[in-house]
Amino acid sequence: MNPSFIPIAAPVLNGNEKAYVNDCLDTGWISSNGKYIARFEKEFAAYCGVGHAVACCNGTVALHVALLALGIGPGDEVIVPTITFVATANAVHYVGATPVFADSDRATWNLDPADVARKITARTKAIIAVHLYGQPADMDALATLAKKHGLSLVEDAAEAHGALYRGRRAGSLGDVATFSFYGNKNLTTGEGGMCVTNDGPLREKMRQLCWQGMDPVRRYWFPVVGYNYRMTNIAAALGVAQLERLEWHLARRREVFALYKERLSDVVEWQPEAEWANHACWMFTALLAPKFDRDAVGTALLAKGVETRPVFPPMHLLPTYAHLTAPGSLPVGEDLSRRGLNLPTGAHLSREDVERVCASLRSVLEQNA
Ligand SMILES: *Cc1c(COP(=O)(O)O)cnc(C)c1O
Repeated sequence: MNPSFIPIAAPVLNGNEKAYVNDCLDTGWISSNGKYIARFEKEFAAYCGVGHAVACCNGTVALHVALLALGIGPGDEVIVPTITFVATANAVHYVGATPVFADSDRATWNLDPADVARKITARTKAIIAVHLYGQPADMDALATLAKKHGLSLVEDAAEAHGALYRGRRAGSLGDVATFSFYGNKNLTTGEGGMCVTNDGPLREKMRQLCWQGMDPVRRYWFPVVGYNYRMTNIAAALGVAQLERLEWHLARRREVFALYKERLSDVVEWQPEAEWANHACWMFTALLAPKFDRDAVGTALLAKGVETRPVFPPMHLLPTYAHLTAPGSLPVGEDLSRRGLNLPTGAHLSREDVERVCASLRSVLEQNA
């Protein structure tokens, strides 16, 4: 038996992607001007329920320009969850500020508002809420803290296109939100990112920073130091087509999550869905019992043709940030990181694929029990 390989993620481009990209090639509009960029910004902002968007070349630089536009810099502290992709913490570092890591809430796996409250100092300027694996963070609690202490509230929504928090769309819940359109995300443009906001002046600043700092009216005049963080029209063409199909993708992802929950309820735990959440189902994450060696389980699954990946390492244990926080001091995040295993999720999976992942995981756990 030689079962086919089941990747953890794969782009599914079964809408108008090819037609729109070919339109770029046929018309020569392949660089960072062209009709798809404005269209993608407008349609994605509308989807999120906000007024403005700035397309850029990935989710990491979206975070960078959002923090710059908010005026965060050297001497400032920004509270971020310890369980996130490294880009969240690195963006804080890029602007010269210090990331301050807060623990996860076991009920959501997102920022624990009580720990965020403990981490606020006179230097704190912002909170970055990450909607981990598609579950929105507890934004009302974080917004209350932000308001009380005069902090900016940023959503790193890179994993949460389409998530809802109490009926409101991820991307509309803070001062500014950032998205990634990397190849494994709910909506992909290959590489790509977007900043969304209701704040018009903030939008202008972010756009200027993505366009080399160029003055919005005086061409080739650069009043601030900016960056070339632009999105190409080709990427935006993919984005417009992917956005047309986003609800279809989200429905397929919900089906995958539901089947995992049905088949695995007696062998693993998973990220609980908060009462306020419509989870965007980016990645199903099995929490293994402490007796299992999570990495060995992942290796055994790979031998059966099932790709998995571990939950992100806690940022406060990485070599680059370990000097900031004592190991052991963010116990919930450390525990989730030690035991969590991401399973294949997405529209690339057939029902049979998901059944095979479940059967493979069950048999590996039995053998290792
Ligand atoms: C993917 C991701 C990013 C970075 O996005 P890129 O487009 O890869 O730069 C940032 N934050 C989180 C939480 C992510 O998952």
